[in-house]
Amino acid sequence: MVEASVPESKVVAQRLSAYYGGFQALREVNLTVPAQSITALIGPSGCGKSTLLRCFNRMNDTIRGFRLEGEILVDGQDLYRSGLELTTLRKRVGMVFQRPNPFPLAVFENVAYGPRIHGLSRPSELAGRVEQSLRDTGLWDELKDRLSTPALSLSAEQQQRLCISRLLAVEPEVLLMDEPCSALDPQATFRIEELMRQLKSRFTIMIVTHNMQQASRVSDQTGFMLLGELVEFGPTAQMFLNPSDTRTQDYVMGRFG
Ligand code: ADP
Repeated sequence: MVEASVPESKVVAQRLSAYYGGFQALREVNLTVPAQSITALIGPSGCGKSTLLRCFNRMNDTIRGFRLEGEILVDGQDLYRSGLELTTLRKRVGMVFQRPNPFPLAVFENVAYGPRIHGLSRPSELAGRVEQSLRDTGLWDELKDRLSTPALSLSAEQQQRLCISRLLAVEPEVLLMDEPCSALDPQATFRIEELMRQLKSRFTIMIVTHNMQQASRVSDQTGFMLLGELVEFGPTAQMFLNPSDTRTQDYVMGRFG
């Protein structure tokens, strides 16, 4: 018998519930994310998409009153185990935000920052890493003669690409993207989506988007959330064309949200 190859699962959430004080923002979410794929989280504003995404690199830990139940595994290892260093975790699981947030430093320094923290100090190696990370996001040719330009003087799209380069420079495994195109115009959005498709051969990507078209364009699987519940999770084409839950159907048909 020939068995279909099962994609390797990279990130797994098991019975994940999250609370802000007395408010329950996630309700027993179960999710398995295959490696080297793009997973989109969709749903109306306030349904818990960002909260879920932020659990995957423990960005909620510092919020007062935040509490988590359940488990998250990355490569089978519990993300919330005691003794896990957050810098090590955030090297493996990086995050891109809605608004590009480069450091108020030169282009080169933005990208070199992470590798330096993680011990890369030889100038030639550092320069090589910066070049490769800028090449990975298509910025090298544009910026190779302007590496000392302040990052904040770049266009919004360049800044977002730079933030992605900054992540790639520490050689992560999982990229979390929280509405990464919401500050960009349609052409820049299209190009960032193209970049995501290129990057997925090397990384596991999870994206929160309020834009259903974006989810359907870029993702391999989609999760639909409502009121903290992961209502449905499956291959993107199926989620949009033939969802099994009527709530998903109503949402993707634009009946609410
Ligand atoms: P989404 O990303 O789908 O818009 P969020 O994850 O941001 O949803 O929010 C889910 C729910 O949790 C919302 O009701 C929101 O008001 C609440 N929430 C988010 N962040 C906090 C916080 N820091 N403190 C209290 N409640 C929060």
